[in-house]
Parts: sequence; structure tokens; C-alpha cells
Amino acid sequence: MLNEKLPPGVQREVMDVDVVIVGGGAAGLACAYHIQSQVQKHNDGIVSGKVKGAPLGELMITVLEKGSEIGAHSLSGAVMNPVALAELIPDFRERGCPLDTEVKKDAVYYLGEDFSFKLPVTPPPFKNEGNYIVSLSKLNRWLASECEGKGVNVFPGFAVVEVLYDGDKIVGVRTGDKGRDKNGEPKDNFEPGLILKAKLVIFAEGSRGSLFRGVSRKLKLREGKNAEVFEEGVKEIIQMPPGTVEPGVVIHTMGYPLTKSIGGTFIYSIPGDQIIIGLVAYLDSKDPLLDPQRELQKLKTHPMIREKLKGGKVIAYGGKTLPAGGWYSIPKLFGDGWMVTGDSASLVDVQKLKGIHLAIKSGMEAAETAVECLVANDFSAAKTQRYEARVQNSYIKKELFRVRNFHQTLGLGVFTSLPLLALQELTGGRGLVDGMKVHEDAKVTEKVLDVWGAAGLQDPANQLPTPDGALFFDKLSSVYLTGTMHDENSPNHLLLLNPDICRTVCEPQYKSPCNHFCPASVYEMKPSNQGQGQFDLQINYTNCIHCKTCDIKCPLGNIDWTVPEGGGGPQYRCT
Ligand code: SF4
Repeated sequence: MLNEKLPPGVQREVMDVDVVIVGGGAAGLACAYHIQSQVQKHNDGIVSGKVKGAPLGELMITVLEKGSEIGAHSLSGAVMNPVALAELIPDFRERGCPLDTEVKKDAVYYLGEDFSFKLPVTPPPFKNEGNYIVSLSKLNRWLASECEGKGVNVFPGFAVVEVLYDGDKIVGVRTGDKGRDKNGEPKDNFEPGLILKAKLVIFAEGSRGSLFRGVSRKLKLREGKNAEVFEEGVKEIIQMPPGTVEPGVVIHTMGYPLTKSIGGTFIYSIPGDQIIIGLVAYLDSKDPLLDPQRELQKLKTHPMIREKLKGGKVIAYGGKTLPAGGWYSIPKLFGDGWMVTGDSASLVDVQKLKGIHLAIKSGMEAAETAVECLVANDFSAAKTQRYEARVQNSYIKKELFRVRNFHQTLGLGVFTSLPLLALQELTGGRGLVDGMKVHEDAKVTEKVLDVWGAAGLQDPANQLPTPDGALFFDKLSSVYLTGTMHDENSPNHLLLLNPDICRTVCEPQYKSPCNHFCPASVYEMKPSNQGQGQFDLQINYTNCIHCKTCDIKCPLGNIDWTVPEGGGGPQYRCT
């Protein structure tokens, strides 16, 4: 438990705000922008006589973001369907929205270890004509500046660490203290966190939002729902020699290098002779040695990919998880004083690997509900429930309901699932069995011996290609490209519930999966002084890129990812 005691005589400042939005990603920023647009529309309607009631005065709409600046923690594939952005800001192109390029060509390949096979026709879910390749980091920076232009208070560097309740009603949030040392004691630069009392709190924290996870447990928001399940994605941007890249080409692959896990890869080309390459793996894999960063390096050794990347140099890297459970994993979306949007609410189309437009749309639906609450001065669940109805009546439901059994089916294996997925296409997503269940990612991990036999980590499939500092990287060198920073003399935000079982159970049986799945080399087993041949877990928490995989996939459920000091973490600029 972190020390949160204040030094004598120090008090937390209390601010009253109308709406506080936790998270400055696409969902949160779209929500803030749309609240201000809708307030303007309401007030204009009163002036023109179209709307009855009192005008809303100047409102305090506040976005709190834990990254050092907006976009610093934003990472995505990302091919964006522009439908929601066009609704939010119809003249987004004229207003200088940073779109890398429109998609011009699509292709899907199956990769064997040393061969490739191009599907003669691109399956509809992989067709991307009319979509844009974007940097989510750049898009969110631009959205934040549009929000500020509308009078939204956007505060980066503020990590929210606590939700404030009055009974089961949410009444505000508290931001984390800054300037505590590794033991939690205040340093000379100590600044206490703020208390923001809010009429409405909107959660937009992204994948595995740690705050909303607590809300969800306390208010039992997932009762009767499928468990949350996730995929882990890693991505690199590769600078190619001048004149070698045709922008706007999108390639997806299946097969190599993943052998014991389900997943796929993506390769996008953008202007400036850059190629984006990424790999996504299901976390409900049995494999305790799953390591997406290593698999991405292996992907680049495939003859087809190697040829494509000849002469290239990796210039950026990042990793994140994305919710994969789909429609049946969506929690209750509203309550007294709150709503939840975007990835935090599992609103991702896992078949198309697309969530940005759903994040923006859910932010807009929450915004319209928020304005109704502000007009009525009623923030109870009776009012916020309109948000869930809006989601049900929008294309969010239409898209997600159509693929409601997709993740569960593909989890059966690529070839086993193909006829079942085809049947789902024909039956509007129903398939043979509707409401297919999922298993929590952590619970399906099997022991190394059962998955890899005696070879274990020495199996040739588990070897990292030799790093060359250009195209192939070890994990620490990859992390360097994220610009990640946390103050070394700050509290460790990665808490072990029982450090002993890492040595006594996890290492002997599972070979410490956190050492493998963490895309940032945060976890290392070091020789223990408890006995020869035993190992203790060392946590290099300053490397953490906030992907949350450890919170999700530790087979013993032994890692609790808590919110670190605001401003720490990756410094993405073009991912
Ligand atoms: Fe991701 Fe956990 Fe590693 Fe941080 S420590 S990078 S959250 S797996």
C-alpha cells in the first residue's frame, strides 16, 4: 500500500467542476469537445426560441491525463474509420487534422515460416478503403488543441488515483501526489494531489483502466457479463530509404511467427518513407512464454517481410493491450454520477481491430447525455441511463453485435474457427452457439512443461533474432525508443500481492511469464538468497510503458498495476 499521508500543515486543494473526464485519449477528448458543442447548441436554441429552459452558463469541463502531455501515452495500430470524427468535427480535414494518409490498397497474406500466400480476395473485415492511417498520438494532440479552443480545461500530467463516493454515488476524483520518494515520503518538491468534486465523472482511461476496474468491482458492473479479455499489441515505425515506400498500403498477415497463440500482424506504409509494423497476440493463450516483442522481431526475419524492410531502421516502438471481449464483455455503462466510454468499456471491434471511431462515438453519446443531465441538474442513474440507450441505438451496437462471438471462436484456432466464423457472417454474428463464453486471460496459462516440453525457453521458436541496432532489437533497446521516464526515486507502482510465490510457484512451474509478456523488460528473475537455484523477482518499474499486460496476464494474479506519479511513462510522439 502506498503512503498517502500528508506532511503536517499541508492540505489538499478542493476544486468544484461540472464534469471531470478521466483520460485524455480519443474518447475523453471527443466527449469534452462534444459537451461544449452541445452546450453551445442548447444556448443558441434558447436564443432562437427553438429550445425551452434556462441557458447553461460557463461550465468547468476538465480532462485529466496521466501522460506528461496529451498523446504521450497514445498508441494504436492505427487505421481509423473517420465516421465518428466527421460527426464530431465535420470540417476536420480543413482544420488540419493530422491524417497520415488515406488507405489505397489492402492485402491479406498467410505466412508459413519461409513462404507466403496472398489471399486472392481481401476478406471484407480487412478492407480499409476510405479509412485513414493515423498516428493516435498526433490525432489526440490535435483533438486536445480543438478542445482548448472550445474552453475545455485539459490538464496533462495529472494521474487520477482515487474515485470519491457518497454511498454508491460517484461525486468526484482525487489526483495523485507528486514528489514522493521511493518509500512514499514527501521530497522537497512535494505537491499534494487535488480533490475535484464533480457533478459527473466520465471514465475514458483506455484499456484496463485501473480506476474504473475498482468502480466495476465495487458496484458489481460486470455481474452476468463475460470476463474482460485482452490482446497485447506491439508496434514499430521503420524509416526506409528515400523513394522506397508507396504510402497508403495496408497489409495484414496470419500465421508465422505465432505458433502457440492466436494473433496477427499489420504492416502499413505512410508518407515520409515510413513503414508501421505491428503484432497483436491474444492474451487468453496457454503459452507462459508468450513474448510479443520477440515475436515482432521474428516476424521481420520472414523472407517476405525482410525483403520489404530492406535498408530500414526502427525509429519508434510501443506496446499496449486492447480489450477483445466485445459485446458480451461490456460492463454496465452508467450509474449515479458517472458514465464509462471507449476502451475502458470494451468498445472495440476485435474483428477489424478498430476502436478509435467507437471511442469517439461513445464519447459523443456520453457528452449528449451529460448535457441533458446539466440542463435538468440531475446526475442520477435515472438520467445517465440514456447513455446506454444511445449506445444501443447507435452503430456502436450494430458493429459490435455483429462480431459478438468472434474472439471466442477465433480462440479455437485459425483453421478450426474458419467455418464457424463463416457461419457467423451468414447469421449476423450468431453462428452455431450464441453468447459464447470466455476465460480470464490469467487463468488459461499452462505450465511450461505442458506447452513446450523439456526444451522450454530453449526451444528454437523462443529465440530472439540477433539484434543489429537497425532492424532487430532486444527488449531494452526497444524500450529506449519509447522515451519512457519515471523518477527513479518515486514509489514503485507495480505491487506484488505475495512476493514469495514468484520464487516458490511461478518461476519453477511457469518460468515467470511476466519476464516474457512484458514488452518493456520491467520484470527480471535474479538469483535469490533464499536458496541455490531459486530466483526472486526484480521490478524495474521505471521502464513501464503502461500497457497493463502484467495486471491482466500474471498466472497467479499476483501483480497489481497502480497509477504512478503523473507525467511518468512513455513519451510517444508519432505512434
Ligand atoms: Fe506493461 Fe506491466 Fe510491463 Fe508496465 S510492467 S510495461 S504495464 S507489462
